[in-house]
This record gives sequence, structure tokens and C-alpha cells, in this order.
Amino acid sequence: MSERRIAGEPASRGIAIGPLVRLADGSAEIGRRHGDPAAERAALDAAITAARTELAELAAAADELAREILEFQVEMLGDPALVAEAAEAIAGGAPAGAAWAAALAGQIVAFGEAEEEYFRARAGDLADLRDRVLGHLANGAAVVPQTLPAGAILVAHDLGPSRFLGLDWSRLGGLALEAGSRTSHLAMLARARGVPLVTGLGPLAGETGEAVLDAAHGFVILAPEPDTLARYHAQRSAAGADDDPAALARPATTRSGERVLTLLNVDDPAALEPHRLAASDGIGLVRSEFLFLGRERPPEEAVQRRAYEALLEAAAGRPVIVRTLDIGGDKPLPGVTLPQERNPFLGLRGIRLCLERPELFRPQVRALLRAAVRGNLKVMLPMVAHPDEIAEARELFAAELAGLRAAGLAAALPEIGIMVEVPAVAIRPERFAAADFFSIGSNDLIQYTLAAARDAGGRVARLALGLDPAVARLIANMVDFGRETGKEVSVCGDLASEPDAVGALLDLGVRRLSVAPAALGRIKAAIAVHG
Ligand code: PEP
Ligand code: MG
Repeated sequence: MSERRIAGEPASRGIAIGPLVRLADGSAEIGRRHGDPAAERAALDAAITAARTELAELAAAADELAREILEFQVEMLGDPALVAEAAEAIAGGAPAGAAWAAALAGQIVAFGEAEEEYFRARAGDLADLRDRVLGHLANGAAVVPQTLPAGAILVAHDLGPSRFLGLDWSRLGGLALEAGSRTSHLAMLARARGVPLVTGLGPLAGETGEAVLDAAHGFVILAPEPDTLARYHAQRSAAGADDDPAALARPATTRSGERVLTLLNVDDPAALEPHRLAASDGIGLVRSEFLFLGRERPPEEAVQRRAYEALLEAAAGRPVIVRTLDIGGDKPLPGVTLPQERNPFLGLRGIRLCLERPELFRPQVRALLRAAVRGNLKVMLPMVAHPDEIAEARELFAAELAGLRAAGLAAALPEIGIMVEVPAVAIRPERFAAADFFSIGSNDLIQYTLAAARDAGGRVARLALGLDPAVARLIANMVDFGRETGKEVSVCGDLASEPDAVGALLDLGVRRLSVAPAALGRIKAAIAVHG
């Protein structure tokens, strides 16, 4: 059989090479009888208790994100209305499984149709919960035990978060889903754990054998040719440098001894490993969305301030660049972003939205101004497309600073830089000289330059692979502007975390890279062989 490539949606980066193994779908016989209604009810109660015990055990060992998901499930299991609905159906003669599935069906549909992503993501959690209880009813266990070979690429139609958390990812390769989405809770968990995940691949029934999961680009490659395999093995062993303490600890210098600054991108401070931070030159991008996403209300100013201060403390004097809230586009925030936008990537997102919604932005600004007295803090504005946006943001920072000082509170104005992710900035950077520094967001810069949505996958994603000459020209423009003005120019988009792209970025004159923490070792290794 010759090599075949199936395109899906990249949902959690990484590469897996291994046998494709279909995960038993755990589908249970919902019509199975346990006896009279009393026996059915007893079976349901026992299954719910068993499921709740398992979920509580998983939650006890979980990090914050996983715990939040699992605790919602435990809470739903204790919902008397849900159990009462199933009990009523059982009293009317329904088998326990059918009664339970029917009681959850309405909830799953209601959550699945919600306008807000936050609630839609809950539909998957409920389906997961339904299946766990059904598994116990049918098999006496949530999941039928299955032997999974080391390094396997697991295939499923979709997968619930608790099922994902129950698998031993230290010995498995990655996950290929026929359905699913990159905004699901499962995808968030996979990203937090560094498990490669591609969603939306379509039917994979009957596919077996050795495969490659390229979750950076959203492909599964079936029956890979020997040179495809060799290429991916090479990429993966470069990634092996990430866990090698010596590779991590080396200073980032090129072969000719030129120093390159390597900083980290922080999406979730809870997942930031201290030894990686210690091996870096600081934090080049804090995606402050972590404070806002997955909750019903924006966080209080004090909560934000404490989070920024904790990062400054961890960075121990090295720079920490916090990007102000960047929502909209690929990062919707329920209740804040506009669900009806026809083209959210070109809509009210990033700094545009913050300036439009000062009641959302001001607490963040105050938290940053107050945290700035505690370390080497810099602030970065996302999605700037017009110089007025910098001016307006500066006015807001100045006004809040004056207010804090008038109230006798310690505060300082940090440097304010901008992301370079809209081509308008990179084409005429001199118009944006009011920024103190620049950081190139290649993810968005590529999508806007090539008119290729970053979450499109498939043929569209292929347009955005590697370093396109037009994007290279824009980066060179920024590097030249940095040289002329003495302002820092870094790259913090995913391109900086790709060893294959690092040589080209260094050739363009880039000397500051902000990378995914998991990629630090491989990026230092790529720098060391350059020049
Ligand atoms: C980028 O666009 O490259 C970037 C770093 O920001 P984000 O991926 O968070 O949009
Ligand atoms: Mg961006």
C-alpha cells in the first residue's frame, strides 16, 4: 500500500510514530436487563457510585484544569433531578442503561447547542459521564481493559476527558480522532500534557499498521514511505533534546559563538516546569488568556495581579512579557466576544476588543501597573494594526497609573511593546515607533499574509507550512527596523519553536526567540549547529 495522508485539524502539537490502534469505544448495551425495576434501580445506583469513586480518584491526582472538568462531572452525578428522571423511567419499565442515557440526552443536546463555547465544551464532558456509567452497567467497569502497545497512536471517533485522563500517556504516542474539536476540554488537556492530537480526521475504520501523526500540521500519514519515516524520526529525536538536561542547560549560542536569547511562551503558569524556566532567558510571552478562559466571569484585578507577581517572582529578575488579553478569532471568550461575527479573525479581537471594552481592560491594566513594581515586567499589546491603538492604550495606562498613585498605591509604568501579527505593522514599522519593543507573532502573521486561517487544517494548513518568502521579507523588515532604532525585535509565534525554521530565522538576523517550554532543548540544539 502506498503512503496516504489524511488531513484533520491540529489540536495539540507533537509527532507520534507508531501502530494505529483503535480504542474500544466502550459503547454499552443500553437495553440490557438487570431484573425488575428495583434491580434496575439498584444497578444504576451501583454504577453511579462506582463512576463517582473513579472520577474522584482521577480528580485527586489531577492538575487544576483536569480537576475542574472532573469535578463538574462528579457534581452532575450527584444532581438529584438527573437521577430522578432516570428513576422515573425505570419505574415505568425501562432498563437502567436506557433510562440513564435518556436522562442525559436532553442535557447533552442543550449544552451542545449553546451559543457559548464554554457550555458547548460541557456537552463532551456529559457524554463522557454517560458512557462511564453505561460502561459500569454493562461490563461492571467503565472501560473494557485493552492492551495498548507502547508508542501507539490511538484512534477513536471522539474521546471524553475522563477517558483521556485514565490512559497512561507516558507510554502512548498520540491521539487521532475522527470527530472532536480543538476547543474541546479534551484538546485543552492534551495540550497541557503535550500529547499530540489531531481532530476531525473523518472515518478511519479499518486503518491499521505503522503511521505517523503530525499534530503540528494536522495530518495522519498511513503506510509512510521509508524516507518519510526517517524525516519524522529525525524531527522526533531533535525533540528528544527537550528532556536532556545538558541540552537544556547549555547557553544558546551559534557555532560561531554568537549569543541568541531564548525565552519561554507561557500559556498556563501551572504547567511551567521550573527547570525549563531556569534554563531560559526569561518569559517572552505570557498569554494572559489563561486567566480568563474557562470561567464564567473575568477574574478580579487582585487575582490577575497575584498571577503576574508570581511569574515575576519565578523569573527572578529576568524579563516577563505579559501580553494583554488577546481574545476573539481562534480564542473566543463566552459573554465577551461576539458570537455572530461573520469573520472573527478579522473582527473585534485582541487590542481592538480591549479598547472597546474598558471595563474588561482596566482591571488588567491596573493589575499590570501594580505588579510592575515587583520585577522586570513588560507589557505587550496583541493584534495592533494601527498606531492609534498604541496611543489609546498608552493613555489608558497613564490614566490608571495616575489613579493608583493618587490612591497611594505602588505602581510603575512598564515598557509597552506590540505583537507584530498584522502585515500592516511589518510593512511600515516606522509608523509604530511608539512601541517600546516588538515581538513577531508568526501564527497570526502567516495567516494574514497567506490568507490561510490558522485553524483550517488540510489544504489550507499546507499553505502555511514552513517559512514563506513573503513572511520572511516581513520578518527581515522588522529586524532591520530594530537595528536602526535599537528596539528589541523577537519572534514568539510557533515558528520560533520549530527547529527546521530556526536556521532561517537566524539568517534573517533574529536573535531573540520565545518558544514553547517543551521545545527549549531542541531550539537550543538547532541554534548550536547554526552558522
Ligand atoms: C502568534 O500569533 O504568533 C502568537 C504568538 O499569538 P497567538 O498564537 O496567541 O495568537
Ligand atoms: Mg496571535
